[in-house]
Amino acid sequence: MHKMRLNELHLKGTLTPDGPILVKSGGEIGADPTLPNMNFVRTLHPQSGEPTIYLPGSSLKGAFRSHIERIIRTMLGEDPTVCCDPLGRSSCGKRIEGMNRSGMNLSTAEEYKELCHACRIFGHLVHAGHFVAADAYPREALNILPVRQGVAIDRFSGSSKTNALFDMEVAVEGQFELNISLVNFEIWQMGLLALTLRDLAEGRLLLGFGKSRGLGKVTVLLENLNIAYPGRFDLPGSDRDLLGMAALMESLRQPYGLKDGQTSKVSTPVAGKLAEESIQWGRPALVWDEEQAIWDVLKASVSAWSGLVSN
Ligand SMILES: [Zn+2]
Repeated sequence: MHKMRLNELHLKGTLTPDGPILVKSGGEIGADPTLPNMNFVRTLHPQSGEPTIYLPGSSLKGAFRSHIERIIRTMLGEDPTVCCDPLGRSSCGKRIEGMNRSGMNLSTAEEYKELCHACRIFGHLVHAGHFVAADAYPREALNILPVRQGVAIDRFSGSSKTNALFDMEVAVEGQFELNISLVNFEIWQMGLLALTLRDLAEGRLLLGFGKSRGLGKVTVLLENLNIAYPGRFDLPGSDRDLLGMAALMESLRQPYGLKDGQTSKVSTPVAGKLAEESIQWGRPALVWDEEQAIWDVLKASVSAWSGLVSN
């Protein structure tokens, strides 16, 4: 399956700070707020070449992964084969490495079958995932930011450290272009992505540093959803259908342990537009480009996740 492309989802939108946000370089692991490096991560703007802040794709992917892990654990429990800790000893990557070291030499299908729900989307040490978030740049370079003062919290006592004030750079404006993709997906995976986007839009998923201080809230505008089925000269299903891997290639279901069951084909309330010439080019694609329609299509995919949970 990894050498084939059966389906592809591309979603474009805009994230706008709703209050201060701060995404530091080097991620958040081991962040000590008493250190002076409370600067927003910067790079050069891809269009103008000017220095600008941005939201690294790796940060977005990390935020999406940890949120989806939380949803999976809430619904299906703490079992590492259901949702592993990717950095822990019982991670899927370590488990599969161990099985291969003991001479099992798993095939690609057998490895996929072993993966927990989160690694089936985001990948693990041995295999890259099926989810990609591109770096999100502001439409125009944004380099001068307001500086806010914070108080370092003692992580043991929970009280503020004496004299431990620090400055942090925050973004309070800017329109960051969101581009995410999911390839070779099952519809329940799209459903988890949909739940995550909704939580992001409703302020339940915060981005970057200082979540407990109220930082990290964004508004979400969805602009374009494109679902393509490469390598075909006809549209599989109707212009209202979402087709997961099992619906596209039934022979994968058993060897890969696909979890879609009855929901590898889900009907949406809004028909997609067939992308122009996409059939002639052997890559039929449905497009939704109105915000409410995109949310409605995303919402339809959630039924596959709830179907999996209740089984
Ligand atoms: Zn895993």
